[in-house]
Amino acid sequence: MSIAENLRHIQSQLTTGVTLVAVSKTHSQEAIMEAYQAGQRIFGENKVQELTTKYEALPKDIHWHMIGHMQSNKVKYIAPFVTLIHGVDSLRLLQTINKEGQKIQRVIPCLLQVHIASEETKFGFSPLEIQAITPSQISELPWIEIQGLMGMATFTDDNTQVRKEFDTLKQLFDQLKSTLFTNQASFNTLSMGMSDDFHIAIEAGSTLVRVGSSIFGHRDYTV
Ligand SMILES: *Cc1c(COP(=O)(O)O)cnc(C)c1O
Repeated sequence: MSIAENLRHIQSQLTTGVTLVAVSKTHSQEAIMEAYQAGQRIFGENKVQELTTKYEALPKDIHWHMIGHMQSNKVKYIAPFVTLIHGVDSLRLLQTINKEGQKIQRVIPCLLQVHIASEETKFGFSPLEIQAITPSQISELPWIEIQGLMGMATFTDDNTQVRKEFDTLKQLFDQLKSTLFTNQASFNTLSMGMSDDFHIAIEAGSTLVRVGSSIFGHRDYTV
């Protein structure tokens, strides 16, 4: 199937209120343009260099999401244009993004990444660390808008476990929405679900799914 057909197929499985990020990392500008011609405007990348190169070359009405691990010293390269940074996983990184936002007088939309998987290697705040964030810490970050949470489930065929992890993230999201962010309507995004588990994520309350290989085909990391 073509990229356009894949996109339509994925879109037809999304319920109302769920937005698709087409994860284009490692894929060519031509592949992105094929999705763009089919109407897709939100794309996700996980490397700063690749993201800025594609941003510069491709149409300016594309919304670029940074979905990968963010290094502090690279924030400045994407701060002027990035639509949403998904993977913010420390207060220190929040402070860096805030500083870069201030420099260019742009409020930068971010999601806090939460570690919900059983695997050790994935980045993110623990649920306890998230719950420990205080209103005064948030008020010290005027150049950041925290729009929600992001998480990745364990890489497993056990759908029960995946569902449990997504449920945990959804509960945390609801809890923060009614406490720390109760006066902030823009805290409304729950980024969870990828090609293999977005159905489960949507059932659990995802509002933003990040789908790559089901649209663009498998990635070849050797090129
Ligand atoms: C690569 C990636 C995706 C997309 O994964 P697929 O399995 O190809 O859909 C989603 N989220 C993050 C954070 C990724 O790095």
